[in-house]
Amino acid sequence: MPRPDGDPAGDRMHEACGVIGIFGPGEEVARLAFFGLYALQHRGQESAGIATADGHRIGLYSDMGLVSQVFSEDDLAGLTGHMAIGHTRYSTTGSSCVENAQPICIESDLGPIAIAHNGNLVNTSYLAERLEERGDTPLTTTDSEIIGRLCATAPGRDWVERIRHTMPFVKGAYSMVMMSPRQLIAIRDPYGIRPLCLGRLGKSWIVASESCALDTIGAELLREIQRGEILIIDEGGPRSCHIDDPDARAALCIFEYIYFARPDSVIDDTLVYLARERMGATLAQEHPVEADLVMPVPDSATPAAVGYARASGLPYREGLIKNRYIGRTFIQPDQRLRESGVKLKFNPLPDVLNGKRVVVVDDSIVRGTTTPSTVALLRRAGAREVHMRVTSPPMVNSCYLGIDTARREELIAANMDIPSICRHIGADSLGYLSLHGLIESIGLPGDRFCQACFNGDYPMPVQLDLDKLVLEGARRAR
Ligand code: SF4
Repeated sequence: MPRPDGDPAGDRMHEACGVIGIFGPGEEVARLAFFGLYALQHRGQESAGIATADGHRIGLYSDMGLVSQVFSEDDLAGLTGHMAIGHTRYSTTGSSCVENAQPICIESDLGPIAIAHNGNLVNTSYLAERLEERGDTPLTTTDSEIIGRLCATAPGRDWVERIRHTMPFVKGAYSMVMMSPRQLIAIRDPYGIRPLCLGRLGKSWIVASESCALDTIGAELLREIQRGEILIIDEGGPRSCHIDDPDARAALCIFEYIYFARPDSVIDDTLVYLARERMGATLAQEHPVEADLVMPVPDSATPAAVGYARASGLPYREGLIKNRYIGRTFIQPDQRLRESGVKLKFNPLPDVLNGKRVVVVDDSIVRGTTTPSTVALLRRAGAREVHMRVTSPPMVNSCYLGIDTARREELIAANMDIPSICRHIGADSLGYLSLHGLIESIGLPGDRFCQACFNGDYPMPVQLDLDKLVLEGARRAR
């Protein structure tokens, strides 16, 4: 059955969240946060929220839906102050409901603090138990609130001391922003799994999940927030300290380059668009085929298809047109519409495809539930041969670090060899980019990345049976 997010068969990996933080005296910070979140919408479409602070108090507004649906002019006008943090969510721990929308605001003896988190913890149950030992109970079922409450109840005279005390116990992926009435604090886990960068807009400081958010509001990208860095910004300017974790190694999620990040974002000095073009070019070298044209599964595979076409000398054409305005809808199609399958999302161009041998470039095959419909759609539109080319290696392991992939038993490449997958999707041939080719294409050393969904080498111990509703389950058991 089609998912309510417009993905016809639920065969996409889903990003965890986007965050933004602004320290901007004299700026309309809520409006800047709104447009920053608008640029980060691809990272999560379930809920959105903005909190602002004016030196004394924190205001907060959040709701279910897209950024453009959640906020009205009146909502933004009510969010005053010189600092803001914002969040757009796809749930990876805790269900999708308004109570779990972020930012979350927590009261403490130091006053309130708001938190917005991208990532997923791997020791949530342990942390929830530690919190209970302190006599505190979270109001939501997100790992993000647990981090906030642990910080709020930790020893220390100020927020920085409490955060430094807490974070060594917190294991997993977190790129997050916290805000007290006087300070903006950005924190990235010691592995640097999710991206987080720092920018400047006039005298304002901006922290964002991706640099495309900085571009959108006219800010200049300064640098990445380093892995393990705690960046504090207040009236004294920015200053940093670090989380102690001698066991940590660099482990940026390699899928940020393949699919999650926007192509106009720069991560570690590498423009994602160009990395994807190079992936397509390498794919053409590794898996050449005689064909008449190269086309992408739009939009995420478009740069790679351009790279494949250029390297192979084949013409680039668009054979599928994507409904660009598809978003979350809770209206389910009836049986007849369901049978039309991926036409809800893609419409083919028979005049381009008829009688042609087609190379189709996609960024990943997760469960293998959508690709057969896409191949069938191209054949019905007249394609004579369909050759699938994928800009990632076969995905054989689930992600526990902030990406909603699928359980391992649902991953098609964990259960079938490549010839079997090719038969299952109905293609004439199938070629995956090698892991070596992927890393070469990005152009950064391989030891900077988490590649666990391809090679099983998780950067930290993970609980393989972990479910995103872990905290709901624990609550029900009590
Ligand atoms: Fe990214 Fe895969 Fe690692 Fe998850 S397991 S962080 S999706 S590379």
